[in-house]
Amino acid sequence: MTETIVIVGANLAGGRAAESLRKLGFEGRIVLVGAEKDRPYDRPPLSKKAMRGQMPEEKLFFRPLEYYDEHRIELHLGVRAERLDGTSREVELSSGTKIGFDKLLVATGADVRRLTCEGATLPGIHYLRSLEDARGIRAELAPGKRLVVIGAGVIGMEVAASCREEGCEVTVLEMLEVPLLRAFGRDVGALYGQFHRERGVDVRCGVGVASFRGGDRVEEVVTTTGEVIPCDFVVAGIGVVPATGWLEGSGVALDRGVLVNERCETSLPGVYAAGDVARFFHTRLGRHVMIESVENAQLMAATAVANMMGKSETHAPVAWFWSDQYELKLQSVGAVDDYDRVVYRGSIADKQFAAFLVKGDRVTGVLGVNRLKEIAAAKKLISASIPVVDAMLADADLPMSKVLAGPTPAS
Ligand code: FAD
Ligand code: NAP
Repeated sequence: MTETIVIVGANLAGGRAAESLRKLGFEGRIVLVGAEKDRPYDRPPLSKKAMRGQMPEEKLFFRPLEYYDEHRIELHLGVRAERLDGTSREVELSSGTKIGFDKLLVATGADVRRLTCEGATLPGIHYLRSLEDARGIRAELAPGKRLVVIGAGVIGMEVAASCREEGCEVTVLEMLEVPLLRAFGRDVGALYGQFHRERGVDVRCGVGVASFRGGDRVEEVVTTTGEVIPCDFVVAGIGVVPATGWLEGSGVALDRGVLVNERCETSLPGVYAAGDVARFFHTRLGRHVMIESVENAQLMAATAVANMMGKSETHAPVAWFWSDQYELKLQSVGAVDDYDRVVYRGSIADKQFAAFLVKGDRVTGVLGVNRLKEIAAAKKLISASIPVVDAMLADADLPMSKVLAGPTPAS
């Protein structure tokens, strides 16, 4: 009998998984189910070039529509998986259809966390996850328009940069004491706060939103400190929640996401998970972690598919992601929340530096800003746990190959 693999979630992890199955020679039935109307596309440009109208939408899609037919991938778009029956091994769709599977990949990503305060449903208050969301924000952009961004995470600060470059007047509200704390860590987060202020963004930390006011649409944001900020539109980027509602009661173990082992297997045999929805056991770190990034979603999808096809692969990456804000091109590797000091290489004033996050004599994370040649070496320093000396890290004239060789007696 023909084997059926069902993939729920038709974006990065799900789309790439379907492609990999065919590349690896899987001849059975592939069903790819996605809640969005759009076929798999690239999200990162949504807060950058695509939001600013500098990239045609057609370029966002990973594959032309015909690709799916040509590769016998049954694409069900605009349809949600409502329930997983782990006993009969069926997925029930919002269309009423039930699809039986031999193997299943959960790739449902995450949904935006929404504000619930007074006025939170007024028109003009936006979130950003999907292409449809980006279209809504793009329609608001015009020089001189007043934007209030709620949440200074990566979404908030990338949107702030894009909208500022389009001439908007931007205020950012963040409850924590520095912007980008979760993504960039305390020190580089604080530097980015300065970089945004230099560009004329009003970045306010230690303050949240108490309510929104307006008639037909949002007109004012009232902060938790009692200030009233007039605005034309709002973008909230206050984090995401893994999309696991449809798995309740299915037998798949959940804990702030779908729990999987290092092979991307859930607690139900033959059911795998990959991407933003999955919290995986990291063998090097010895605990479950969740990494919300493009690279992680792609690598996890590849590992899950290889294991579905009978291989035995382990997912144990050093986390890597990038963020573009203004002319600042940042890449980050490793963790940003586990260090006792920062060693800078290069020039902060020239906005060309690598910030090494160091704990004891080991590098735990590195953020490179307009200075990316250290990034590959940094990955090795972290994965191989190579001891380092601060003076060597800080010496911009010393090739990274010397740092990778470890401290010499003289150093
Ligand atoms: P998703 O991309 O969220 O895809 C999951 C899909 O599943 C969605 O289409 C969803 O509608 C669908 N779905 C959910 N529930 C169901 C259901 N019940 N039934 C059917 N379908 C369902 N990462 C970087 O590394 N660098 C960047 O610069 C960067 N920029 C970003 C910019 C923006 C604006 C956003 C939103 C994200 C960005 N990311 C970036 C993060 C990156 O895009 C995500 O980590 C990646 O998309 C995760 O892929 P995924 O397939 O796991 O989840
Ligand atoms: P995020 O990084 O979790 O940041 C959200 C920020 O908003 C946090 O600092 C949060 O503080 C704060 N916040 C929460 N509630 C708030 C409130 N009521 N008022 C003010 N601030 C509030 O999430 P995100 O920026 O929304 O990003 C969502 C997802 O997209 C993530 O998965 C992210 O990785 C991905 N993404 C990635 C990139 C990239 O890699 N370049 C770019 C865009 C998006 P607390 O921590 O205290 O809640």
